[in-house]
Amino acid sequence: MAQLLINYTMPHSTPGGGAGAVTLSGVNERTVGRAALGPFRARCEAESFEVLEHSGSVGDKICMIEKAIRWAQAEGRPWVSVSLHFNQTPLIDCTGCRGKHHASAPCPHCGTPSPVRWVFGHTAFVWRSSEASQVLAGCVLNELEEIIPRSTRKKLIKVPDPTRPRDAWPNNVAWPRGVFRPAILVELGFACDKQFSDWIDDPAHQADYGRAAAEGVCEFYRQWRRTPLTDWHK
Ligand SMILES: [Zn+2]
Ligand SMILES: [Zn+2]
Repeated sequence: MAQLLINYTMPHSTPGGGAGAVTLSGVNERTVGRAALGPFRARCEAESFEVLEHSGSVGDKICMIEKAIRWAQAEGRPWVSVSLHFNQTPLIDCTGCRGKHHASAPCPHCGTPSPVRWVFGHTAFVWRSSEASQVLAGCVLNELEEIIPRSTRKKLIKVPDPTRPRDAWPNNVAWPRGVFRPAILVELGFACDKQFSDWIDDPAHQADYGRAAAEGVCEFYRQWRRTPLTDWHK
């Protein structure tokens, strides 16, 4: 099979557009995505895969990925799209001070404990109709479980999701066009989970994130290398 092309989509890369979820000590998703790229790329290139980095505004990223895919198609090459993130629980109203805080975390303003409990864990967003995306996500999550301490694997989040508005994230941020598939958006853990937050703060663990995710891509390739490209991308 011709050389695999990997679209590495930087999380929340737009300057001024927010940097995504932030850990308890202030490390954001953009920082982690950048730290993970080097080891991700090194592992993929050791396999002779090609990694393209896509960053900038959502519109810029869509243009770049579409261009990369047209190029891969012209050369008869397979591709996958990967974006490495972590998550945050929704903001809720504090019952103590009427401020806002993240569900499951105590209120930072007044210390009132959260009335809402949240199941922390790791998962990935995938296209509902794309078998390849779901297999790819499984391979990546298997590898990530080797590195993250005591995390619960949650069900894959399949999009589009009829319970979410059509324009809701991640449908419009991650991979707005089905043509990008197989595509996964990994959510490694929750920023307000102290154990995860402390763990991902460590640059060595951010590097592990990239390396392990790349290992999952390699495993997916081993499983699907003899599958026709029409099945990869349907
Ligand atoms: Zn994110
Ligand atoms: Zn409060």
